Amino acid sequence: MPTNIEWTEETWNIFTGCTKVSLACVNCYAERFAKRLQKNPKLKGKYRNGFRFTFHPKELEKPYRWKRPRMIFVNSMSDTFHEEAPEEAIRQIWEVMKENPHHTFQVLTKRPHKAVELLLKGVIYPLPNVWIGVTVEHRKYIRRVLYLQHFNLAGFPVRFVSAEPLLSPLHDVLEPLFGVVNWVIAGGETGKGARKTKREWVIALRDVCRKHNVPFFFKQWGGEKSKGGRLLEGKEWNGMPFNLS
Ligand code: SF4
Repeated sequence: MPTNIEWTEETWNIFTGCTKVSLACVNCYAERFAKRLQKNPKLKGKYRNGFRFTFHPKELEKPYRWKRPRMIFVNSMSDTFHEEAPEEAIRQIWEVMKENPHHTFQVLTKRPHKAVELLLKGVIYPLPNVWIGVTVEHRKYIRRVLYLQHFNLAGFPVRFVSAEPLLSPLHDVLEPLFGVVNWVIAGGETGKGARKTKREWVIALRDVCRKHNVPFFFKQWGGEKSKGGRLLEGKEWNGMPFNLS
């Protein structure tokens, strides 16, 4: 499905539904969407289970049909490494990504411990077209980045941090981990009850990325009505790994 998420082009949801594990999950957009889509008859029941974890095997075929190369966010409506995600399904996802080298796949998780387990078992493995990232919305979750070290050593080309919604300063705890992390996304929260992202947190994060030559992507300021825009000090920050932007 084409998407409004600024740092990708397409979403591919083999899994839908999730359970909350972290501060970022409080106002989970996937939950809001799933509950809305549950009522949409055109989606032929894809969201029939609302936000309960569900595997959609037919979705595995989709990337083969997309002829134009594109950037694809894998399981934007779930978490690829959710506790209920069958190992065999994850193995199949990796197979599909391997067989579609013309696309770039972005896998973002809040459960990197399970990702590492599967890496060590050989269920998942590095591919030139697969990027792996962890959400670190608050400094108390910085340990998630430590798991990315395994992916760095294994040879995953891009190991990224999504600091969205950014809920605390992050620059000082992330700085020692550059090298393992080679792309940073940050943004504010959107929608009802959106929590505030402070300007100084974003600026400090951007500055530390620039200092270490790590591409920095600023998604948006967010806010209840999403009117904050995308400008930081008068310009957009669309840094992508490998100078893609
Ligand atoms: S991990 Fe992601 S999809 Fe799952 S509840 Fe949290 S924010 Fe939502």
